[in-house]
Amino acid sequence: MSHDIKNIMVILSSPSGVGKTTITKKIQQKYPNFKISVSHTTRSPRSNEIDGVDYFFVSHKKFEELIKKNKFYEFAKIFNNYYGTLKKNVDDNIKKNDIIFDIDWQGTKQLSKFKKLKLVKIFLIANNKEELKKRLIKRNQNTKEEINNRYNSFEDDIKHWNDYDYIIINQNLETCFKQIEKIIQNYKKNLIISSQIFQ
Ligand code: 5GP
Repeated sequence: MSHDIKNIMVILSSPSGVGKTTITKKIQQKYPNFKISVSHTTRSPRSNEIDGVDYFFVSHKKFEELIKKNKFYEFAKIFNNYYGTLKKNVDDNIKKNDIIFDIDWQGTKQLSKFKKLKLVKIFLIANNKEELKKRLIKRNQNTKEEINNRYNSFEDDIKHWNDYDYIIINQNLETCFKQIEKIIQNYKKNLIISSQIFQ
């Protein structure tokens, strides 16, 4: 994978319900150069989700075919469903855009193996578990079982914070967004300076 020296890839991971999707969307709205990486998944769409926008919703059979054909940069099985990032989608976007990935720690580990990529890895956590449960219930997008699965995976997810460049506690969405914005701006600024030095 090769890409423009000034384009970056930001990975935003978090346990479910911490506010990652909202922040991802806010970044894209404010910075149109950022494209959100649209993953493939075998899970069913939620009522507010659109195929090709939120995810590419595919069958297990189709997903496994894509794995066999080595079409993914990374994929993982999460809560009994597959989720993955198609190589082609990333390669097409990164030529002109920055990319933001909303993927889990397993995907982050796999993407990190591509040493040439300019990845900024950010891990978002809730200030406490009870707050997380409240948010999962409030957003009303999951069944009781799904809420419990997501809530119970919290401990496992946060074990992987060490694989990230930045850990941010989301106590307040606006503050959290500003912190992420600063990280991105600094990273881009340094990249532009170093590309000028090496020209
Ligand atoms: P949800 O079902 O709530 O949309 O997502 C569940 C989890 O899957 C989230 O933690 C999300 O970050 C992760 N996820 C979404 N897309 C991908 C992907 O392409 N690869 C990996 N590894 N994780 C993903």
